[in-house]
Amino acid sequence: MKQYYQGKCKTCSKKRWKAWSDAQPKSKKNEYTIKYRHKLREQILKHYGNKCICCGEATYEFLTFDHVNGDGAEIKKTEGIGQNTGVGLLLWIKRNDYPNTIQILCFNCNCGKARNNNVCPHITSTSP
Ligand SMILES: [Zn+2]
Ligand SMILES: [Zn+2]
Repeated sequence: MKQYYQGKCKTCSKKRWKAWSDAQPKSKKNEYTIKYRHKLREQILKHYGNKCICCGEATYEFLTFDHVNGDGAEIKKTEGIGQNTGVGLLLWIKRNDYPNTIQILCFNCNCGKARNNNVCPHITSTSP
């Protein structure tokens, strides 16, 4: 019966997760969280092309998720998710079926964009 499928019930899975999580030693919990986040991040990076859309940087550690319209703060507020680097954003992306308002930028381009009126200096810079 479809309606009894437990995996669909958010409250149940949340409860079970909490019970399981409480039973784990702290170090193990952290290890699991890190692994989970890593896997989730890889999955989402892959979906968005695995490289910076501006300069083509493809080093995993350099890549960040960027809100196309620079509305990250707004989403964070309405969705109640925390840090950009946290698992909250990753889960949000997945839950919203990989919205096209998210793109991959490397750390450089992301910071550059933030400091240059939402456009990466790579784009506006006239120097070769
Ligand atoms: Zn870049
Ligand atoms: Zn750039």
